[in-house]
Amino acid sequence: MSLFRDDGIVLRTQKLGEADRIITLLTRGHGRVRAVARGVRRTKSKFGAGLEPFSHADVQFFARGSELIGRSLPLCNQTQIIAPYGNGIVTDYARYTAGTAMLETAERFTENEGEPAVQQYLLLVGALRTLSRGEHEPHLILDAFLLRSLAVNGYAPSFDDCAKCGIHGPNRHFSVAAGGVICGDCRVPGSVVPSSEAIALLSALLTGDWGHADACEARHVREGSGLVSAYLHWHLERGLRSLRYVEK
Ligand SMILES: [Zn+2]
Repeated sequence: MSLFRDDGIVLRTQKLGEADRIITLLTRGHGRVRAVARGVRRTKSKFGAGLEPFSHADVQFFARGSELIGRSLPLCNQTQIIAPYGNGIVTDYARYTAGTAMLETAERFTENEGEPAVQQYLLLVGALRTLSRGEHEPHLILDAFLLRSLAVNGYAPSFDDCAKCGIHGPNRHFSVAAGGVICGDCRVPGSVVPSSEAIALLSALLTGDWGHADACEARHVREGSGLVSAYLHWHLERGLRSLRYVEK
């Protein structure tokens, strides 16, 4: 790996040795990248200040010799914080838990390091910006992010036409295995009949109709969150740990 520069969102940081950190970022052009930030834990080091989860940073990466622990990892030697989204997120429990679930989801959907995932990156930047500004309820921002993440990764759920035969909606039954709403003829074991309001909410979140989403009653929001969670878990095969802590 040669020298390259990219901007990205810090997904996680891990301690390395006495003073260093391994930083995991979702970058605009290089997908998920891990890099070693040297000396960032020394108190006098200005370098790396702000390289915390949720930060949007411009980073220069370069490969170094074999003295590194984890020698395949590049170093990041220059950073500039573009937007410290964490400032508007970590001080609020609901925002923090929603944001943490977003970071974890983004990491799960970008399992191959270095493989560009620009749509996932853009979704994450937009969702963290919205979350840090408190523009909508945190769990609505999270559910919109999860639905759109599923969509850009090829798992777009259907909330209108039958996911199996395509007959026009509205369709009442919902099945995670079938890929969204299904008609009475296509109904499969395990399908449920959600309220039409919950289905309309999920459709609004997927398409960005915030006027509709913000006006929804709490019980329909909770019901919709349950469907999103079930759908996401089905596709990721195992549950996201951080989703358990999101206040519904
Ligand atoms: Zn059908």
